[in-house]
Amino acid sequence: MTITGGCHCGAIRYALSAAPTGSMICHCATCRRISGAPIVAWISVDGAAFAITQGTPKHYASSPGISRQFCDACGAKLTYARDDDTTFLDIATATLDEPNAFPPTHHSWLSHDLAWLKFDDGLPSFPKGRYDD
Ligand SMILES: [Zn+2]
Ligand SMILES: [Zn+2]
Repeated sequence: MTITGGCHCGAIRYALSAAPTGSMICHCATCRRISGAPIVAWISVDGAAFAITQGTPKHYASSPGISRQFCDACGAKLTYARDDDTTFLDIATATLDEPNAFPPTHHSWLSHDLAWLKFDDGLPSFPKGRYDD
């Protein structure tokens, strides 16, 4: 299986060789400010299954130990990674060539949610991360 995606301008392209292990929508304030969007949808993948196939993304440390990749030509935000765990990688669902293929299963970080943002999709919602207390 190969799943492909990339940034808006086409400078950065990537490929995934394994199916995602998760799919969610993040409402956290960090994703919001970085993306300029009220929420960001992510798929979780095995970092070893991910490869940049064209271009060289820039990295931004949004928090200690966290690295986000983006295109410095068009500004598209592509990935979220933990420096201490190369098996962990999130990819922005909306940068996939077929984002409809991996619908989200839950919402995370509702504690940061914007007051005017309303969802009625029936999906489970969590005040922080899916697996946080
Ligand atoms: Zn680009
Ligand atoms: Zn987030």
